[in-house]
Amino acid sequence: SNTMTFHTRRSPVPLPPESAPLSVTDYVFSLLNSSPPPPTASAFIDAGTRHRILYSDLILRTRNLVSSLRTKFGLCRGDSALIISPNSICTPILYFSLFSLGVAVSPANPASTILEIKHYVQLSKPVIAFATLDTAPKIPALRYGTVHVDSVEFELLMENGDGAKEAEGIQVSQSDVATILYSSGTTGRVKGVELTHRNWIAMAASTLALRPMRETPPIHLCTVPLFHVYGFAYCVRAVAMGETVVIAGGGRRFGLGTMCGTIEEFRVSHVAVAPPVIVAMVRESGVMDGYDLSSLEAIGSGGAPLRKGLIEKLGGRLPKVMFAQAYGLTETVGRVFSTMGGTECEVEGATGKLMPNWYIDDEEATMATLDSEGWLRTGDLCYIDKQGFLFFVDRIKELIKYKGYQVAPAELEHLLQSHPDVVEAVVVPFPDEESGQVPMAFVVKQSGSSIHESQIKDFVAKQVAPYKIIRRLMFLDSLPKNAAGKVLRKELIKMANAISKL
Ligand code: AMP
Repeated sequence: SNTMTFHTRRSPVPLPPESAPLSVTDYVFSLLNSSPPPPTASAFIDAGTRHRILYSDLILRTRNLVSSLRTKFGLCRGDSALIISPNSICTPILYFSLFSLGVAVSPANPASTILEIKHYVQLSKPVIAFATLDTAPKIPALRYGTVHVDSVEFELLMENGDGAKEAEGIQVSQSDVATILYSSGTTGRVKGVELTHRNWIAMAASTLALRPMRETPPIHLCTVPLFHVYGFAYCVRAVAMGETVVIAGGGRRFGLGTMCGTIEEFRVSHVAVAPPVIVAMVRESGVMDGYDLSSLEAIGSGGAPLRKGLIEKLGGRLPKVMFAQAYGLTETVGRVFSTMGGTECEVEGATGKLMPNWYIDDEEATMATLDSEGWLRTGDLCYIDKQGFLFFVDRIKELIKYKGYQVAPAELEHLLQSHPDVVEAVVVPFPDEESGQVPMAFVVKQSGSSIHESQIKDFVAKQVAPYKIIRRLMFLDSLPKNAAGKVLRKELIKMANAISKL
């Protein structure tokens, strides 16, 4: 909107003309070609197995996979593909290949249950799925079936395609859907958020504008999931810049000690985390003592609020490390406000300034994303000060963030209400120091029912991924409602906050 223009930063890196056919992969690989990293530079390293993918392999394997997926399965522009896999160094290759084919990439949490995956399939209508031996049994039958990404077969698809013929005849338009990511938005059940190739290209371009020039490329450690916009965008940006990303997760536990060991082993300079990792670093700071963390230059946190004072405490322990914060949403291709270094990081409690390239000079995309007055509906209560710094105050939308993961209250309420002993139920966030928030349910049970709290919790737990489990439950005789009979959710949130302070 006009009032926001004042705070806009413009990218000195021009975007390609919008009408030019161009996929995210074309754009990112062309940036790579224009300042190629040394052939021996690693694009991705698996923190657990230590397997590496060199930049030369990344491009070749992507090309091969494009050709294999086309010839073997007939995947084509306009299709969509579901990906249910823990973090792996092959995940970005799969993403870049599907982008090249014009196939919408739709990754979801590997901890999702059969029911949750069924809902994703209804939303994005994938023709094919990519999964692991563990996650594949949860996926329903799709037109081209499910490919195991941890199999020899998948290795062969990346080794043996005819890379030379890869791009022939494929014309991906920038307005094509590149990704369908899952988010509940401001209310209700999970939805599929469509982002176009143009959206991702603008995101990658903004990085070029803001990254300072360096003699040696940074080595990143990505501790966040690649199915979430945070990890996804982190990897796309790093490849655009020819940087190295050490990927953590892979279904293995990645505690603070392991994280420090990884930083030491690979001389990591930049780490991407969600707030619980910062909480752990402050709480268990003694763990860091045994490791050489001298390579560390910056830690970035995003995806959920970071409690005030934490950065100061950690800054005392790691005086040379810069702390960056970012605020964003799935709907904004991840971070849209960010502290990028220098003095901007020093503003207590701020989550940075507006990034370049967001909705700027793009009337069509703006109209589609913003309301009639030009505002983006974030569902968050924030303010921007005179210097343009964003301060996050509170979340107004019905969303719980457990360790940065989205939990949609409506989804849990729907399940609770399907229990025969439950008359009504409302789920709200309950403050939690370690996880940020945990789901709390207020339940009205059938009169005469002797059902126990734990039985209802178990009933839900069996049907949802572990991060969505209802951690607290309270029975009420009735729910507070307004005259029109609408539940006063805010009253219940207040009640949860009050209980948390007891
Ligand atoms: P997601 O689409 O999963 O990234 O969730 C987006 C939501 O996460 C935002 O609307 C905020 O409520 C919350 N969020 C993201 N980054 C921050 C941050 N730096 N501070 C506070 N809340 C955040």
